[in-house]
Amino acid sequence: MSALDVDGLRALRRDLHAHPELAFAEHRTAGIVAAQLHDLDIEVSSGIGGTGVVGVIRGNSPGPTVALRADMDALPITEEIARDHKSTIEGVMHACGHDGHCAMLVGAAQILSADRDFAGTVVLVFQPAEEGAAGAPAMIDDGVLDRFGIEEIYGIHNIPGIPAGDFAVRPGTQLASFDDLDIVLTAPGGHAMAPHLTGDVIVAGSALVTALQTIVARRLDPRVPAVVSITQFNAGSTNNVIPPRAHLRGTARCLDAHSRDEIERLVTEICTSVAAAHGVEVDLTYERRYPCTVNDPECAARAARVAAQVVGDGRVDPDCDGILAAEDFAFFLQQIPGAYAFIGNGPVTEQSGPVHNPAYDFND
Ligand SMILES: [Zn+2]
Ligand SMILES: [Zn+2]
Repeated sequence: MSALDVDGLRALRRDLHAHPELAFAEHRTAGIVAAQLHDLDIEVSSGIGGTGVVGVIRGNSPGPTVALRADMDALPITEEIARDHKSTIEGVMHACGHDGHCAMLVGAAQILSADRDFAGTVVLVFQPAEEGAAGAPAMIDDGVLDRFGIEEIYGIHNIPGIPAGDFAVRPGTQLASFDDLDIVLTAPGGHAMAPHLTGDVIVAGSALVTALQTIVARRLDPRVPAVVSITQFNAGSTNNVIPPRAHLRGTARCLDAHSRDEIERLVTEICTSVAAAHGVEVDLTYERRYPCTVNDPECAARAARVAAQVVGDGRVDPDCDGILAAEDFAFFLQQIPGAYAFIGNGPVTEQSGPVHNPAYDFND
């Protein structure tokens, strides 16, 4: 009999889905995961990097220490589709499939802990706060790599649109860096009849939004994928006042470190230039968030080989395109070699949308 309890894992995944928890608040999730590992006679450490949980499975012979990582947090999204395991928490939803990632890693724990017939040590890393709150560096800062002697690390994320159960990985950059732009424009403001006296943060802000689009279109090497998106533009409250303040926010993403440096330099330069051209103050806060997720080539090749052993060569793409999503798994890969792979979640349908969508569901 297989050690893998498929029915139990499906039930676990749906229970986590029904009880989602936001970044660094994954107390129930962490407790359930720790209890399941404990039941498998796995050494468990909790409270690492906040709500992180680590399990250690020692194989029957010596060898390397390799970590497998799952993320645990949900998103501030209201689930739209009626289903038995629909979120019971208003405004919180597992819309990125981290419920599934947790169940997958518990499944790996069931198999690996059954006869422990392998060389080396497997460290199971259940990480908090992947969604923008940087749980991976929180665990690293809490010593997870040194404390458990982790030499290599692997992670998997589901991707809707790839056939269910197919794998995709690549040597090198799999996922983008992501940075935050926060821009405040200020001017005296005043009556709409006298713009020469007020400055105009709306005209200046509009020019800024347009000028920022020239970074990707005209200034970066067009062979490198990158995006600069302004996603918020707030200013003004009535029709006859030129407001004194406009607030813009956005994100910059790209697939190589040089382009990332260039984007930061050019955003800064354009803000300064637009301020001078329009006679307003422009105050930019450019915050570097997650670096590119860069797979070690040997580890990526190994991941592809192992995936092919499970599902067959024809269902593994060992050299897929990188995408402009970002992942704090990148911080692990800055410290030690490893690889991050995609697993297909099946087609996008009305009943199962893309990730971060209110209709999303992990494919059991
Ligand atoms: Zn996500
Ligand atoms: Zn995710």
